[in-house]
Amino acid sequence: MLWEDDQTLRETRNLPILAYHKVADVPYPCDSAWVTLHVFSRQMAALHAYGYTTVSFLDIVNFKKRSMALPPRPIILTFDDGYECVYSLVRPILSKFGFKATCFICPDYIGTEYRYDNSWDVGDRGWPTSMMLWKEAAIMQAEGHSCEAHTLSHPRLDTVNPWKAYREIAGAKKEIEKRLNTAVTCFAYPFGDGVDSSFLRFLVSHSGYMSAVSYDSGMANLATSDIMALPRIKITQDHSVDLNSDHPESFFMRIIDPSFPLPRISIDHIEIYDSLGKGNRTFFAPGECLTIEVFAVNNGCAVNVWASLQIIGNAGKGDLLIFNSHPKTDVYKKPFTCGLPQEFTYIFRIPDDAAAGEYHFKLSIHDELYVLRYFHGGAEGE
Ligand SMILES: [Zn+2]
Repeated sequence: MLWEDDQTLRETRNLPILAYHKVADVPYPCDSAWVTLHVFSRQMAALHAYGYTTVSFLDIVNFKKRSMALPPRPIILTFDDGYECVYSLVRPILSKFGFKATCFICPDYIGTEYRYDNSWDVGDRGWPTSMMLWKEAAIMQAEGHSCEAHTLSHPRLDTVNPWKAYREIAGAKKEIEKRLNTAVTCFAYPFGDGVDSSFLRFLVSHSGYMSAVSYDSGMANLATSDIMALPRIKITQDHSVDLNSDHPESFFMRIIDPSFPLPRISIDHIEIYDSLGKGNRTFFAPGECLTIEVFAVNNGCAVNVWASLQIIGNAGKGDLLIFNSHPKTDVYKKPFTCGLPQEFTYIFRIPDDAAAGEYHFKLSIHDELYVLRYFHGGAEGE
């Protein structure tokens, strides 16, 4: 793989701690705390394909204080507030990939029978969203996920009096430990507020927490980050596993690993040969046999790729997919280096029942594991 080896990654000591809130089939509009199920599933598939292993905050404490080993590519997946969707939608996806979540929950909003919503957050910021029940939190805990503390009632800690702050911080730990019969060792500051206050930090340590996270965006580092104020990476719907070379900063893989290679692929030209030789047309008839050569160029990092071609016909009835090379006749390039155009050749016969008409072509270029997409674009016949 044309990627930095694990030795190099280990030397960077980067620890991506991803911060999610809510996942849904169809999210509410104008609320950046949502990620669609489709985007989330693809993000998890990419983490799995690239060898990431989820760890817990206790694993990090044990690594730092007791020199216990961590897997080569550790990552922490955090879900704030304890939404019901984490139980019903996120959990099955994590289990498919063997991943474990860390949920930061507020006991005052976790119901026994009655399901609460996020009333602290409704108004200008968010929409009412259902919270988990204790029995759901207990199932998650039993399956190896961690439920950690996010105060009792999600206040802005830097605006409440010292006694209330203490009750919120220490009380959340006690309540979760009692309800789930587990040790709670990590604390997440609501809204990230108060992480810079030495008094609040004292309360967090004094309450028995061994680690804490802020909501400051950034990469945590195993060697240099303060374990009582670990930064996290806020993941949004825009963090795609499809690379947009104009916006590489929102490419999901680049967010979790700043050294991840970025190709920059575009189509140079396309040549089509029909049975009589090179054609110079985009209008084809059913039964015709075509050889299609797509020349693409990579002006970025060298990567190994799979390329697939889709041919879409339009006979006045709207677009209709009539050929897709994936997966049978995809073309593999190892490596797809920077510079000269490289050729991707496909042969296909227009089905007899396809209508005669205009055709257009789309080339789709993926990483060698077929979980990321580096390019997706159309091309005209020459
Ligand atoms: Zn929160």
